[in-house]
Amino acid sequence: MCGECFLEDLILRVSSEVSRWQMIDPGDVVAMGLSGGKDSYLLLETLSRIHEPSKLVGISIIEGIPGYNRLEHVKALKSHALSLGVEVVVTSIKEYVGKTLSEIIESAKARGASHSPCTYCGISRRRILNAVAREVGATKTATAHNLDDEAQTALINILRGDIIGLLRQHPLAPPASPMILPRVKPIRKIYEREAAAYAFVRKIPLQDTECPFISQAPTLRARIREKLLEMEAESPGYLLNLMETLDSILEKEAEKLETEELPKCIKCGEPTSHNRKVCKLCEILEEAGIDPVYSRQAARLT
Ligand code: SF4
Ligand code: ZN
Repeated sequence: MCGECFLEDLILRVSSEVSRWQMIDPGDVVAMGLSGGKDSYLLLETLSRIHEPSKLVGISIIEGIPGYNRLEHVKALKSHALSLGVEVVVTSIKEYVGKTLSEIIESAKARGASHSPCTYCGISRRRILNAVAREVGATKTATAHNLDDEAQTALINILRGDIIGLLRQHPLAPPASPMILPRVKPIRKIYEREAAAYAFVRKIPLQDTECPFISQAPTLRARIREKLLEMEAESPGYLLNLMETLDSILEKEAEKLETEELPKCIKCGEPTSHNRKVCKLCEILEEAGIDPVYSRQAARLT
């Protein structure tokens, strides 16, 4: 395929995955989590072709990692989004939690907490995306998880015996609580290497430095990623087959999951699971010695 046909093919495939699971209704306001990486550009472009751009809003969350300042790239992303008619809200972990990701990690290390940097990063970003999406009046959130991400997560859930986690990954699974907006993953059937090819064809200005914490990423995910890449290189199609199979066999069970009123965290008021008083974010921040009062305000929109 030439570059242009490849781009059209990507848009068609994303569009067909979105309609297959009825991910987005015409009236939805969709808040997209956009980091500024290749996957987020692909999410932005495909959704702006499928859905009315004025009903899309990008949310970029700056982590606050020295030497890995996303600000420049977020600015480029913001102007690209505007050219497609999409507004982008920029916020940061510091604005929401009161500390940058690096400050949280330093503080956690000093107190001997054992979570990986990606745990603090992932849990904070998930929370902020949902909170800011609610503030801007979104009805759904969309994340730029690609096929490789989804296949890795599915295998991690299987290896851990986390059946609920596996079912919650399914596109028909409802959110766990009414305070959590339904989350869609439109590019879930697009390989990471296809997203990279997309960025190459579109000449997207990507960040050339890696996050310095990547080497401390959870080892199980890193090992699964490596193995899957090896297997996929030997016999292309494994990852897609895995996700298609899970989609079919889990469809009925995923639909049966319920959205329920979960207990509210006694510190932040966000939902937490039945057997807990505080949510996971408050718990890990407390372990890190950080007052998890979220700067006593919601994320400021800039
Ligand atoms: Fe966050 Fe980990 Fe990704 Fe770095 S590698 S941006 S810490 S999730
Ligand atoms: Zn909490």
